[in-house]
Amino acid sequence: VAELGTPDRSVVTTCAYCGVGCSFKAELNGDELVRMVPWKHGKANRGHSCVKGRFAYGYASHPDRIMKPMIRDSIDEPWRQVEWAEALAFAATRLKGIREQYGRRSMGVITSSRCTNEETYLVQKLTRAVFLNNNTDTCARVCHSPTGYGLGQTFGTSAGTQDFDSVEKVDVALVIGANPTDGHPVFASRLKKRLRQGAKLIVIDPRRIDMVKSAHIEAAHHLPLTPGTNVAVVTALGHVIVTEGLYDEAFIRERCDWDEFQAFAEFVSDKRHAPESTALLTGVNAQELRAAARLFAKGGNGAIYYGLGVTEHSQGSTTVMALANLAMMTGNIGRDGVGVNPLRGQNNVQGSCDMGSFPHELPGYRHVKGPEVRKIFEDAWGVSIDPEPGLRIPNMLDAAVEGTFKALYCQGEDILQSDPDTHHVAAGLKAMECVIVHDLFLNETANYAHVFLPGSSFLEKNGTFTNAERRINKVRKVMAPKNGYEDWEVTQMLANAMGAGWAYTHPEQIMAEIAATTPSFAGVTYDRLDELGSIQWPCNEEHPEGTPLMHVDGFVRGKGRFIVTEYVATDEKTGPRFPLLLTTGRILSQYNVGAQTRRTENSVWHDQDELELHPHDAENRGLKDGDWVRLASRTGETTLRAKVTDRVSPGVVYTTFHHPDTQANVVTTDFSDWATNCPEYKVTAVQVTPSNGP
Ligand code: SF4
Repeated sequence: VAELGTPDRSVVTTCAYCGVGCSFKAELNGDELVRMVPWKHGKANRGHSCVKGRFAYGYASHPDRIMKPMIRDSIDEPWRQVEWAEALAFAATRLKGIREQYGRRSMGVITSSRCTNEETYLVQKLTRAVFLNNNTDTCARVCHSPTGYGLGQTFGTSAGTQDFDSVEKVDVALVIGANPTDGHPVFASRLKKRLRQGAKLIVIDPRRIDMVKSAHIEAAHHLPLTPGTNVAVVTALGHVIVTEGLYDEAFIRERCDWDEFQAFAEFVSDKRHAPESTALLTGVNAQELRAAARLFAKGGNGAIYYGLGVTEHSQGSTTVMALANLAMMTGNIGRDGVGVNPLRGQNNVQGSCDMGSFPHELPGYRHVKGPEVRKIFEDAWGVSIDPEPGLRIPNMLDAAVEGTFKALYCQGEDILQSDPDTHHVAAGLKAMECVIVHDLFLNETANYAHVFLPGSSFLEKNGTFTNAERRINKVRKVMAPKNGYEDWEVTQMLANAMGAGWAYTHPEQIMAEIAATTPSFAGVTYDRLDELGSIQWPCNEEHPEGTPLMHVDGFVRGKGRFIVTEYVATDEKTGPRFPLLLTTGRILSQYNVGAQTRRTENSVWHDQDELELHPHDAENRGLKDGDWVRLASRTGETTLRAKVTDRVSPGVVYTTFHHPDTQANVVTTDFSDWATNCPEYKVTAVQVTPSNGP
């Protein structure tokens, strides 16, 4: 601050990292950003923040940023820096040629959950109204797509049921497959405060996460399950609750389909789901599991918080539905202090899903096959919409390798680093005739691109993000875009270069179009957002100020639906060659593949990914803390340093995926969730051996 001078103005905006969605005052001296101060009126953070939002914004002015568009005829050639008009004409000519030669379904887009709602809406509109297909997908595919499916099936809409304030009424918090301290720090602080006030905690996680220490020791149950057995563990909880008569019959009879509950109850009551029967499979002590089930059912307000340790599995969607069953059978839905709460990894995962960036859904989670829904958008856009659902990200890559998918517009997403089975991603990209990367930095995916369009940071744009509690927060432009254009303008220019004739002059107009076409956003305007500070959707005539709690009087789908959740083992198996199970996660100071945080002062807190392994496994391999190890799986191998710790169980190893030198996804498999294709990042059979280093 001393170097940059005293701030002389400030702009309130929203953090662009995790799904907590903290509000900040960006303080400036002239055009220089001096500091980010957590905003005390922000309803998601109430004046708090973490080290990412507070300090890790320097990437926006990092010298690695690309400010001028670049093109090249083939990926073997060097880049040529060109003006925007030439780059857009080059891209449009290629795209139109590909559409002509290979058909309209030969191209698609991948957008990022980092982008604003307005940007995401425009990208899916580009796909549907200009490319003329539904090949639009988002990086939510690789994180919370099972949430969309699972909560949609059981409750009727894909969204967390609560607001964050609700944590103040929680009596028992069940945290499964999430590490809030590192992943969602501001929410974690609120949960820890509640635990200090006496709330109880159940943690279901292969690692002993920091949160376990936050509860009184007698009030914390840690169920350290074997990676890949979530469904078996949650079903066993249901077994105890049903067979011991701990379920909330009045709630179920009034709010849910009773016949479906009876079928479900018969299923979970089977002895094969008893904790004693599943202990060997899951690694969870039967008595501990019974105690946790009794506590959750009878301990007062029970709230479920979950993260990617639930969704990124071959049964990710099944686990989400099993958690919904658990909440419904215990009557923990529809009031303060309860609910099913997906902790969204990225700032706008919720919003990107809301905005229709999945290949089967138009904005507002309405299936593209519905003629009445298509008509709403056909009337608004003046085009005919393809009634066939499009390709998901892995299907796009498969089709590219097979030769039927030829062009990709990839906005704000480094799929080469972030998607599983890096070699397959590279093969897909290499097979395409036009790859357009729209990003801040020349990322790894750009190695396979023909067009690079410079992106704008969250400090340089207007728009909205929607956080994990469905809260729509405004993103306000703090400084002019360093590349000349906000990202929504670039998408519009690309659409117009292909003949679209769009004429938006401000994202506010895009939000007006969203509100006009999407019932859950019907009452959202920029003026209302300024007036109220933020709004939780649904916001409409019935709920003009938004909806903090969902499913209060009834589920969105009518009756809550119990779904039988049969455990099916993943195809990824350990064996003599690969005897350990690898699972992955984040640390507090870093974010995903590190593209932003590593280009900030936060990098001093993390200069490498480490492999956590249990002392027994280390000793068996002659390894000690800090040694180099080779981590190998059936798909690839990498090298990193060992961290010997009993936070992980014997047989389980763990690493983060923040550093490009590690490229943890070289070893992950291409198995994925049966319903959504969300990759199974959290279970990989591996071997760990001593190494001399990279
Ligand atoms: Fe808040 Fe998440 Fe940003 Fe941290 S990273 S400041 S918790 S929104």
